[in-house]
Amino acid sequence: MPQNAIGFVGLGNMGRPMAENLVQSGQDIIVYDAAGTETRAPQGARIADSTAALASMVDVIHLCVPDGRASEAIARDLRSATDRQTRLVVDHSTIGTEAAQRVHGFLADAGIEYVDAPVSGGVSGAVNATLAIMYSGSEHTFDQLRPTFEAMAGNVFRVGGEPGHGQAMKVLNNFLSGTAMAATAEAVAFGVRQGLDMKMILDVVNVSSGRNTATADKFPNRVVTGTYDAGFSSAQFVKDLRLYHDAARAIGASCPISPAVSDIWRSLDANEPDADIARIYTFVHSEDGD
Ligand code: NAD
Repeated sequence: MPQNAIGFVGLGNMGRPMAENLVQSGQDIIVYDAAGTETRAPQGARIADSTAALASMVDVIHLCVPDGRASEAIARDLRSATDRQTRLVVDHSTIGTEAAQRVHGFLADAGIEYVDAPVSGGVSGAVNATLAIMYSGSEHTFDQLRPTFEAMAGNVFRVGGEPGHGQAMKVLNNFLSGTAMAATAEAVAFGVRQGLDMKMILDVVNVSSGRNTATADKFPNRVVTGTYDAGFSSAQFVKDLRLYHDAARAIGASCPISPAVSDIWRSLDANEPDADIARIYTFVHSEDGD
């Protein structure tokens, strides 16, 4: 029996390669992007003219759009779509806990199930199908989605059952990642000003207790090389850190470190709009010695 087609909305840096991997896995994929679908669609995917048109063609729609506002706009389109066949929306976007809960409630009123399944691993993870997926929703739906997830990801987790649990996982991860990058920039700039060699600093830290994702990967591969091409923008970290901070404040969780980390990323983004996150090093180093 032929498999049902799957819908995919949002064909940007992440969504396009994710949809492409679904096509490669042999799935029948129908895609849509508000900025123009034909130029963004992976080869082999079918094209829909709108989210509403897609809703009349598929049971399940995956989203990978910039933020909560975009997910909400799509949810509104789905709710008002006539001839709707869609019964499940799987959101891979990073939108924060509150927006995920809102979209979940909004779609539930229309009889559409919404699960959050944000991703980590960057554009290279999306291209190589090695992403981590942080799903929250029922076990039943998780089992149904597993083959689709495994076509896009190397690590698939069911992190909880409540709407927003996947988002909580994602934003706490990005808080840690943003903190590691910012703290590593500060520590390396300090060492270099002391007269130490940057590569040597990283070699020592990477076999010592200060090792983290920035010292192990982003600094040796994106900063020492002078390429500053981690493929994630300061603006995205500003967004994700704000989502983390807002979610922490909303539940009264202690969050004394995130304001300082957010300030650094906001300053980089104001100084060099949409800078690659590897530029945090040149930014922190240039601020030194005032
Ligand atoms: P992007 O801006 O490159 O792509 C988003 C796409 O969504 C665009 O093509 C845009 O036209 C489309 N879009 C926006 N609103 C739409 C709507 N209402 N209907 C249809 N299409 C719409 O963003 P990205 O880098 O692909 O990131 C997508 C999501 O994944 C974000 O939430 C981001 O935080 C998250 N994310 C990104 C990375 C990364 O490294 N880029 C890593 C993990 C998670």
